[in-house]
Amino acid sequence: MLSFYLKTYGCQMNERDSEALSCLLLSHGYRAAPDEAAADIIILNTCSVREQAERKAIGKMGLLKRLKRQKPGLILGLIGCLAQRRGESLFAELPHLDFVTGTDQLQSIPGTLAALQQERRQFAALSQGPEIAPELDLHQPGHWLAYVSVMRGCNQFCTYCIVPYTRGREKSRPIPAITAEVEQLVADGCREILLLGQNITAYMVAEARQAGTWTKEFSGFADLLLALHKIRGLERIRFTSPHVSFMNRKFIETVCTLPKVCKSFHIPVQSGCDRILKLMNRNYSVAEYRRKIAAIRELTPQATFTTDVIVGFPSETREEFNLTRELMLEVEYDMAYIFRYSQREGTRAAEILPDDVPEEEKHLRNQLLLDDLAAGVSVRNRRFQGQVVEVLVEGESKRNPSRWTGRTDLNKVCLFPHRPGVQPGQIQPVLVQRSTANSLFGELQINSQG
Ligand code: SF4
Repeated sequence: MLSFYLKTYGCQMNERDSEALSCLLLSHGYRAAPDEAAADIIILNTCSVREQAERKAIGKMGLLKRLKRQKPGLILGLIGCLAQRRGESLFAELPHLDFVTGTDQLQSIPGTLAALQQERRQFAALSQGPEIAPELDLHQPGHWLAYVSVMRGCNQFCTYCIVPYTRGREKSRPIPAITAEVEQLVADGCREILLLGQNITAYMVAEARQAGTWTKEFSGFADLLLALHKIRGLERIRFTSPHVSFMNRKFIETVCTLPKVCKSFHIPVQSGCDRILKLMNRNYSVAEYRRKIAAIRELTPQATFTTDVIVGFPSETREEFNLTRELMLEVEYDMAYIFRYSQREGTRAAEILPDDVPEEEKHLRNQLLLDDLAAGVSVRNRRFQGQVVEVLVEGESKRNPSRWTGRTDLNKVCLFPHRPGVQPGQIQPVLVQRSTANSLFGELQINSQG
């Protein structure tokens, strides 16, 4: 049977899709190849969010032409956001490419591969309209952490973002399908799940609006968390990414009060300036963002926050950037993905807003935020010294195999020396002795079996 090699670019959603596709191919009798050279089929799961990621994936596929010349039977496929966005036009640029598959058509790939073994021509399977095939819910067994996709697409149309055009409109999976998937994961040894959705706080909102049942108090995502929380053996629930506009009272109370929901929240802010937020079409104000953070802190003072920020958005002045900087210092984020704005073809911002902030100014703003973050986190991590934290053990540290590594429920990396009986997947109490900006270091408290 043929072997496949799957390379993933981009976000956690793409990683999740690659895992599901690997399982699907294995279940159809294909073998996983250790590297490209050994593979009969090479599939690149591509990302379209940043131009650089697109260029990388197209460049990589271009390089594979040489391998195909040496090995004419080699099958090459591009899947994911780039494949969805560019579709069949990719065949003109990459004539050695055998198939392109859109973001929610992964189920068609075994059929495409079978057809390619019969007939060598180019195949395209792209997502069409609101009707989608059911989510691929396959997982590699035996992992204590799993990604679970709960919805796809986005209806927000932030002016800089390509996602609504590549992943389409919001489509949520029903609660029973998700709970069944998580119950199976837990039965296979999973302890922690990361729920994925581009606009996860809008889970089931489009469906409720269509059914006429939507009210301001509606939070389908809170209902999903309540259902998942009941699953015995599941220890931790994380999620990404929420949108401030959908974080109503019900959502905030639910995430703050359910013990299994980790109290480290990733809440993208993008800018601390109302004028820029408006240009971005983010649909919230800085005041609203502050209010939501304050509401979470009121219920869970220990909560930690991470965020996404864009610096150098078209027309952003130094004063407006300083508002972002002040907000970031005030919220005391533990981490931030900071992006220097770059025009993305196909987005509204690229059409109507000139990319007018000089590159060196974007670099400077980026560096100022990174420096603030590093200084703040390193001080704040000291508060854990002398505390006992619960660590979900992930395995040996890559840098120092005499240490185990894992994460606390506040998503802090914690390292501690080996002790007999400790296994990956256990939750162990660790007394923190020292800390840096990136990690906590400690000793196991007791030799429990987590
Ligand atoms: S909320 Fe905005 S940034 Fe996030 S996926 Fe949707 S359109 Fe993109």
